[in-house]
Amino acid sequence: MNTYVVSGAASGIGAATAAWLRTAGHRVIGLDLREGDGVEIGADLGTPAGRTDAVRRIGELAPDGLDGIAPCAGLGPVTGLDPQTMVSVNYFGSVDLVEALRPSLRPGAAVVMVSSNSVTGQPGWNAEVAQACLTGGEEVARKVAGGVEVVHIYAATKAAVAYWARRASASPEWGGAGLRLNAVAPGFIATPMGEAMTKDPVLGQFVQAYPSALGRPGRPEEVAEVIGFLLSDRASLITGSVVFVDGGTDALLRPIAPTGLDVPPIHAR
Ligand code: NAD
Repeated sequence: MNTYVVSGAASGIGAATAAWLRTAGHRVIGLDLREGDGVEIGADLGTPAGRTDAVRRIGELAPDGLDGIAPCAGLGPVTGLDPQTMVSVNYFGSVDLVEALRPSLRPGAAVVMVSSNSVTGQPGWNAEVAQACLTGGEEVARKVAGGVEVVHIYAATKAAVAYWARRASASPEWGGAGLRLNAVAPGFIATPMGEAMTKDPVLGQFVQAYPSALGRPGRPEEVAEVIGFLLSDRASLITGSVVFVDGGTDALLRPIAPTGLDVPPIHAR
């Protein structure tokens, strides 16, 4: 039996991931804004104090260390949300949490970050915010994000999360220490967040027009299945990967051919 931390465990992809791990016989320390069903620790990951508190309580609950982390907590791009809060929750609430817990990871442990296929599927996201997340620290990134539309912030935070995972996975502290670090990039998934996006008065029309090769939204369990696999020893050679779990949206929107090939892309039915 391994011990995993899952944030966002109260809903959607986080709840499905916690359920997947528990069904596989593992112990899950669930983390979300409020304690409750399947959530042992209530903490606001959008603040440094909330993260510090969460890390302390995880240490108390798992003094012998952790086998993995799936930081699934996040805020979706819905009109009216504060862009600075989004930066703090989506990037720092994942990356700073994981970095603070890294010393507690046992040899062979794995982490799966949650990015999004909006990074490759949505044009016009704010690269300055992503840059600031990766190089400037939380206060600087929040400052850069101030006043920017959340729709351009969301994909920026998810790009930064994915690129952080790619870079860190190859470092001595991660790969060199035998720790694996990957990300999933889900497409549109039918969760409470997905529902809020669909109903958004401004963004809803774009969400509904988002193409998928399979022609349907994903289910949170389908993402949890991939996160569970990447956390497990069966994925022992996979690190530094960003795995699209999106029903083929990325393949449709970004039909990249290897250099030297000139073949037309396949269009959706
Ligand atoms: P969800 O809204 O169903 O669940 C998110 C959970 O995060 C909630 O339980 C919420 O309480 C928690 N949370 C939010 N802010 C928090 C904070 N400050 N501190 C602690 N917990 C907090 O959303 P979901 O669709 O399951 O999304 C999970 C992850 O997947 C998110 O990172 C999201 O960006 C990502 N994602 C979702 C989709 C989608 O279409 N649903 C697509 C791509 C990526």
